[in-house]
Amino acid sequence: MSEYQAPLRDMQFVLNELADLADVAKLPGCEEATPELVEQVLEEAGKFASGVLSPLNRPADEEGSHWDNGKVTTPRGFKDAYKQFIEGGWNALQFPGDWGGQGLPKLVATPVMEMWKSANLSFSLCPLLTTGAVEALLLRGSDGQKKTFLPKMVAGTWTGTMNLTEPQAGSDLALVKTRAVRQADGTYRLHGQKIFITYGEHDFTENIVHMVLARTPEAPEGVRGISLFIVPKFLVNRDGSLGARNDLKCASIEHKLGIHASPTAVMIYGEKEGAVGYLVGEENRGLEYMFIMMNAARFAVGMEGLALSERAYQQALGYAKERVQSRDLSGGGKAVPIIRHPDVRRMLMSMKAQVEAMRALAYVVAGAMDAAHRHPDKEERAKTQAFVDLMIPVVKGWSTETGIEVASTGIQVHGGMGFIEETGAAQHLRDARITTIYEGTTGIQANDLVGRKIARESGQTAKEVLKAMRAVEAALGKAGGDDFIAMRTSFSAGITATAECIDWIVANYGADVKAVHAGAVPFLKLLGIVSGGWQMARAALVAQKRLAEGKGEKAFYEAKIKTARFYADHVMTQAPALKNTIVNGAAGVMALAEEQF
Ligand SMILES: Cc1cc2nc3c(=O)[nH]c(=O)nc-3n(C[C@H](O)[C@H](O)[C@H](O)COP(=O)(O)OP(=O)(O)OC[C@H]3O[C@@H](n4cnc5c(N)ncnc54)[C@H](O)[C@@H]3O)c2cc1C
Repeated sequence: MSEYQAPLRDMQFVLNELADLADVAKLPGCEEATPELVEQVLEEAGKFASGVLSPLNRPADEEGSHWDNGKVTTPRGFKDAYKQFIEGGWNALQFPGDWGGQGLPKLVATPVMEMWKSANLSFSLCPLLTTGAVEALLLRGSDGQKKTFLPKMVAGTWTGTMNLTEPQAGSDLALVKTRAVRQADGTYRLHGQKIFITYGEHDFTENIVHMVLARTPEAPEGVRGISLFIVPKFLVNRDGSLGARNDLKCASIEHKLGIHASPTAVMIYGEKEGAVGYLVGEENRGLEYMFIMMNAARFAVGMEGLALSERAYQQALGYAKERVQSRDLSGGGKAVPIIRHPDVRRMLMSMKAQVEAMRALAYVVAGAMDAAHRHPDKEERAKTQAFVDLMIPVVKGWSTETGIEVASTGIQVHGGMGFIEETGAAQHLRDARITTIYEGTTGIQANDLVGRKIARESGQTAKEVLKAMRAVEAALGKAGGDDFIAMRTSFSAGITATAECIDWIVANYGADVKAVHAGAVPFLKLLGIVSGGWQMARAALVAQKRLAEGKGEKAFYEAKIKTARFYADHVMTQAPALKNTIVNGAAGVMALAEEQF
């Protein structure tokens, strides 16, 4: 099994040439993100990822986390790796300086996050969940709550969790039943059960700060009656020291298909007197706060699809260069490394091209998140936020669905050895399988895309994106040469297919909402493929310019153009077929009566 190496050159290319790091570094509060600093951060992160996290990935998967009478022990090496992680300041990278963070832009934190996820997805989930909890507190926590919890959580000496799911409330959080009863002193007492709580219990830190969704007794039914509470494992004294153990426990952890090292906890709140909780913001607005944070969390899970694809690709490539089997089709008597066979090449190219497309789109969206947050011009902020909102379900849904496909192709490249656990290729597929489920399934992302992000605003933002795509299409037309002609042809068809689907969604949403939702996931896939291709085309145009300048790295830039060409012929060409599925396919989806199944 190969150790992960951070793809620094491609990361730098995307940051600088496609996601416009230089522009992001001009935004207020982002000035520190100089090219030198960013290069240094990425290099150091790459060393930590390949030297510390990656070697633990496979043994930790085999060992798993263990539960014993409420205590959870993570696999050997995890606790020490976490200690090194927080000592290195990695937990604090993107948090504001006021709370001990380093205040780096989202765009810089994004490749770093990609590295943790590629190197060791199970490990990376702990800081991911802490980030979600920190963001909730930054957003709506009171001054006192911030002072009590943020310094420790930003430093990583306490971790955070997100407690949304209950046995009867998964995709539909309106069904949350956990009760929170207000006490005379203004605190609340919580009673209820939460399931599937990532790092709900572990041995990394002395305290865990649970963010819990619950309902007060007089709350209205449904989504408007849910509040958000801070429920720490240990209560915190006035001087910041740890006080009494709160009335909560980890009843068990799940046995899972993948991410074995990440403990997924069943949490019981308030078996005795009730778990002490502190209301965040106002009562009944918990789900609204969650929605504001959801962009960051969904983006992060989208990065998991990309990160595991990169890892699977590196591993498959290494194997394809070493495994000798069958003669070269062009002649010669000896068996050759399998990378010489066209079908293996096709598989490797499909992995490489999709990885590059997902990375480019994700980083462009990360840069837009910085601009949406910090740009001095209000209109620009609003416009960029609309782009981010449109693209989040795409980054989440498309990258994770593609991640499963790429990890599966990685196994295929290995032949039988891919199916055998020692190789490590199978783990990537097992780990990737959860990414389309948690933080909102692909179906939920697609509903959000067609409903809230397209139909509700009559496709306005999406049409702006199509205009930007048409400009790139025109530039491809001027570039000349077979590769660019081919790219233009399939990109043009992809944009037209997307435009037709958007018009169809807008026209039909009111009259036949089920028909639109029947094609929601295919549409999400279509928009992902075309948006990824948009970035591949931009990359090819930059590469052509750099080659013309003749300043070196010829092989890298030529590969960018050839990879974009592959994407145009093998991936982008799926767009018109998906359009047919979306526009004509609804009849078949809902055709049978329930009894006919
Ligand atoms: C390993 C793991 C870690 C997790 N970590 C956390 C965590 O830290 N915190 C937390 O709170 N939760 C966590 N979860 C829970 C996770 O977010 C939910 O499992 C997920 O949101 C799906 O909910 P569900 O399992 O109840 O599935 P369901 O909601 O029952 O969905 C079942 C199927 O129905 C489909 N479906 C449901 N509603 C619709 C609809 N309206 N339209 C179309 N299709 C629909 C879904 O797409 C899916 O295919 C975790 C889960 C796992 C397995």
